Amino acid sequence: MQRCVLLSLCVLECSGWVQPASRAPRLRLRAADTRRSDAEWRELLADDAYRVLREEGTEPPNSSPLDDVEEPGTFLCKGCREPLFTTSTKFDSGSGWPSFFRPVDGASVELRADFKLLLPRTEVRCAACEGHLGHVFDDGPRPTGDRYCLNGVALSFVADGDDAALAAAVAARTAAGPPVQKPLAVTLPALLFNVALSGAFFASFAARSGELPASAGVLQQAFAFFPLAAGAFYAYQAAKALR
Ligand SMILES: [Zn+2]
Repeated sequence: MQRCVLLSLCVLECSGWVQPASRAPRLRLRAADTRRSDAEWRELLADDAYRVLREEGTEPPNSSPLDDVEEPGTFLCKGCREPLFTTSTKFDSGSGWPSFFRPVDGASVELRADFKLLLPRTEVRCAACEGHLGHVFDDGPRPTGDRYCLNGVALSFVADGDDAALAAAVAARTAAGPPVQKPLAVTLPALLFNVALSGAFFASFAARSGELPASAGVLQQAFAFFPLAAGAFYAYQAAKALR
């Protein structure tokens, strides 16, 4: 039954419920030359920023001073100075990387499926210059439940007190811009991965449920119910992938 529900929700997605963020209209605050050759990016960026933004690297945890920023302000893409996040959506995730629950708006970032670790993850890129920023996970705080886990070296910070015009423009853009919507190319792999694992664990439990002897000990019984718990966990993850 649960699989039927998930399949139905998948059909809703396929029918256009999800619009890729990249299709949303963009509201640029600053006209930047965002298309550069690799040689130009190497010239423009410091080595550590180039490795993250252009080579999809990851900075060491607890290495960015931006992780401790609490002052109201805007976090810009270091590659093109596109405003991406604000301190008002920043939170302490304890991960060692600057974390936010929402970008400036849905047109600020581009979300892509990432299989580098085999498990499907969602990569976050700057929508303007396509620079790699980090990843977004679904274990963030309210109101979105998202955790944008970013590399501080890919960002620059401008305090509101240092650029009031930027702060006002970003606030207006957040109020009027499109919401973040995960594209189907991101949602579907995570959905299928979790549905497959959930089904495998439920099937394993169903196949073994009649094998447990009446004299089984507590540990043996707990072990027998592990596939059921694992199946429920991955079914929950599949449901979360549809948010
Ligand atoms: Zn950028």
